[in-house]
Amino acid sequence: MKFSAERMLGRLAKWLRILGYDTVLEGRPDMKVSLEEEDGPRVILTRRRKKPGPGHAYLLHSDDPMEQLKEVVATFRLTFDDASLFSRCSVCNRALVAVPGAEVVGRVPDYVLAGHGTFYCCPLCRRVYWPGSHLGRMKKWLAGVLEAEEEAEEENGLK
Ligand SMILES: [Zn+2]
Repeated sequence: MKFSAERMLGRLAKWLRILGYDTVLEGRPDMKVSLEEEDGPRVILTRRRKKPGPGHAYLLHSDDPMEQLKEVVATFRLTFDDASLFSRCSVCNRALVAVPGAEVVGRVPDYVLAGHGTFYCCPLCRRVYWPGSHLGRMKKWLAGVLEAEEEAEEENGLK
């Protein structure tokens, strides 16, 4: 599943990329490339009531980025694993490349370098990612979101 988010939804887009979902921001010229590279339709994420052009659009109900993320995760039943969490640059949406520590010397703090064998590098903006303590918190948070949604469905007799 791939997304195209309105420009105002930058923080939501960032989180979707952290989960590993290809998400472009409308009107960003630097993201045109990844739009053209990919085939297949994207789900348009919008806060506007009026449907933005052709294609499938999802109208978000909240203005809060974390609430929006909950909505999208629950609605589209998004899943993720350790590999997907470090598969995409949160800033420019590019697929990350796994590199050994030797390649990121000087670009990450020494204590981080010592503690990890593999790093993930963005080929476009050169940002370096590694699994940190936020990974565990993120997983817990997301598991909670999905669980709450299933309970609500059971209560409503949808299951
Ligand atoms: Zn990047």
